[in-house]
Parts: sequence; C-alpha cells; structure tokens
Amino acid sequence: MRFKFIKSVTKFKDCPPANLPEILIVGRSNAGKSSLINRFANEKIAYVSSAPGRTTLLNFYQTKTHRIVDSPGYGFAIGGRKEGDVAVQEYLNMRSTLKGVLVLMDIRRKWHTDEQAVVDLLAIRGIPWALVLTKADKLNRKEFERQTRELKKQSQAPQVFPVSSLKKTGINELQKFVFENWVQSEDNEPQ
Ligand code: GDP
Repeated sequence: MRFKFIKSVTKFKDCPPANLPEILIVGRSNAGKSSLINRFANEKIAYVSSAPGRTTLLNFYQTKTHRIVDSPGYGFAIGGRKEGDVAVQEYLNMRSTLKGVLVLMDIRRKWHTDEQAVVDLLAIRGIPWALVLTKADKLNRKEFERQTRELKKQSQAPQVFPVSSLKKTGINELQKFVFENWVQSEDNEPQ
C-alpha cells in the first residue's frame, strides 16, 4: 500500500482537510507505533524511536483511500492539558472522518489504567477500536497464547490482533480488518 507522510500538527485546527476516512493509532511511547506504520507502508516513513519521550503530536500518513494518524502517549486520555494532548482530545471529539482507533500495546505488558482510560474514553464517544498486541515475536508460543488470552479478557476488546512488525506476522490480517471495517464501509462511499 502506498503511504506518504502528510504533516504533523500540534493544534486541531491544523489537521488536513476532513476528506478521507482516518484511523487513529494510540499507544505508549515505545509500543511499536512507528514500526507498525512503516510495516503498513512497506518503507520507512515513520520515525522509530530509540528513546521514549517525544512531544505529543498528531502525525498524518495517507494512501489513496484513507489516512493513518499517529499520536504518541496517553496524556490526552488521562486529562492532559499540554498542547498536543488537547489536540488529540479535540480530534477524538470533533473529527468527522475518524472511523476507528488501534490501541497498541507491547504483548509482554499488563493491561494498565492508561489503556483503560483510552478505552473508556472511546466507549463514551462511541468510537470503534481494536487492540493490537505488538512485538509478538518476543514470546514463545505458550506465553504468546497466555498473554493474548489474558489481555483479551482484561481489555474486553472487540477485536485483538497480535502482530510483529519485525517478523511481519499479523500485519495483513490487521490491514484487511481496518480496510474492510473502517475504510470501505458504506458511509465512506463517494457521494
Ligand atoms: P513507538 O515509540 O510506539 O513509535 O515505537 P517504535 O516503533 O519506535 O518501537 C520501539 C522499539 O520497539 C524500537 O526499538 C523497535 O525496534 C522495537 N519494535 C517495534 N516493533 C517490534 C517488533 O515487532 N518486534 C520487536 N522485537 N521489536 C519491535
């Protein structure tokens, strides 16, 4: 899929025109967001961090049919008032083209109040979401199955996708789900 980077914004008013379906990616820093975007794109378009702690921004990437929007950190979900947090809050409240959210977390982690805060917020707003368990290659088969089961139970996620950007596993299934359910849905047909 041909993806290109469009822009990074810290203010909601600077978002690109609301003319394509958008999928928001959220997750702690180091969750594997940039690596997943690069895997979606099949090339290095997102910056993979070696150190956590980037500024909160909305980063827009685009194909012919939809956009992927990357937003580092969870400040927005726990009431953060930094400029970027406010932009993400406004984006979630007001963006008409937002079709779904991918909540990313390292498959080795435990479900945390940060993730729960995001999921609660999405439930209030009625925004569809799916849980993406990253770095699946880090676990052996038995641990992988246990963690997937546990996190599915704890999150009550409607869909769970274990992926490895490194080994390229689970990526096609995730892209297919996003495209069929959130991009290609009837209300996105051209008028
Ligand atoms: P971000 O901060 O959420 O954008 O996370 P990054 O994509 O920058 O990844 C954080 C770190 O995890 C980097 O060192 C990546 O190389 C590593 N990483 C990301 N995805 C995978 C994966 O699927 N497998 C493994 N083993 N490491 C990964």
